[in-house]
Amino acid sequence: MSAQRLRGKSLCVSYEGRRHVLDNVDFQVAEGRLTILLGPNGSGKSTLLKTLARTLDPERGQVLLDGKDIHRTPTRDVARKLGILPQSPTAPEGLTVRELVGMGRFPYQRLWQQWSQEDERAVNDAMSIARVTEFAARPVDALSGGQRQRCWIAMVLAQETELVLLDEPTAFLDLKVQVDLLELLVQLAHVRGRTLLVVLHDLNLAAAYADELVMMRQGRIEHSGSPEAVFTAAHLKQVFDLDANVIRDPHTQRLVCVPTLTGATPLLSATTPVSSASVSLSPT
Ligand code: ADP
Repeated sequence: MSAQRLRGKSLCVSYEGRRHVLDNVDFQVAEGRLTILLGPNGSGKSTLLKTLARTLDPERGQVLLDGKDIHRTPTRDVARKLGILPQSPTAPEGLTVRELVGMGRFPYQRLWQQWSQEDERAVNDAMSIARVTEFAARPVDALSGGQRQRCWIAMVLAQETELVLLDEPTAFLDLKVQVDLLELLVQLAHVRGRTLLVVLHDLNLAAAYADELVMMRQGRIEHSGSPEAVFTAAHLKQVFDLDANVIRDPHTQRLVCVPTLTGATPLLSATTPVSSASVSLSPT
């Protein structure tokens, strides 16, 4: 594999003439690693992912895929090298899991050959890796959030691209399901050699699973490198305005951030009378 297969150079992106949402971003995706992109809401993470995947055109700068300008490369060629899963995708009603995963094979379809044994094998492999084979015949919209998310990941895997970009694949899932998904993504990178770039919102899961962490703020990349180098209290304060201690989990040695209590403005002081009409502390 050549170095730096996917690289953004001096990327500037704005929406409808507003100030730069991406402000001169230089970024290269580490090969065969799981890179996790963090940043406050609106910092430009999705925009960066879409620009790197050719979904959005930059106003200035270039995205290079294997040394070629991705925005001048035909869709099918890009789709054989790079798969992207956008935030909160929705499947047409009634579409089965197998049909959805099969959609990942579109870059390989030809007019004269709609579906090959190779497509069949890729779909079966992808469903097996993402552990959705047992749901193959069921409609996607009849599954739980976590099962559905695994189906979408299977669809991207069926595309059999070495580069995989995922935008918040764990959003709204139970912690256990998030952990399962991250374990799957780590395996894809470490066992199968895929290159993954993933936007996540959970800081501690990001620090626990990333090979490379990238922190964005206001359209710029502020920090990138190993979790050891990037996941610090000072960076969390600067990027997220979060007061937190970063400590080590004594069992796994992983880094964990624990927000500190500033005690700045107590919601209720000890002397405030609490009436049942103004606040209820018991579950309703
Ligand atoms: P993040 O993924 O970090 O939450 P986004 O890349 O989605 O950030 O958005 C960055 C900024 O661009 C935000 O201010 C957002 O409101 C704005 N933005 C995103 N998409 C659009 C759009 N389609 N039209 C106009 N503004 C947008």
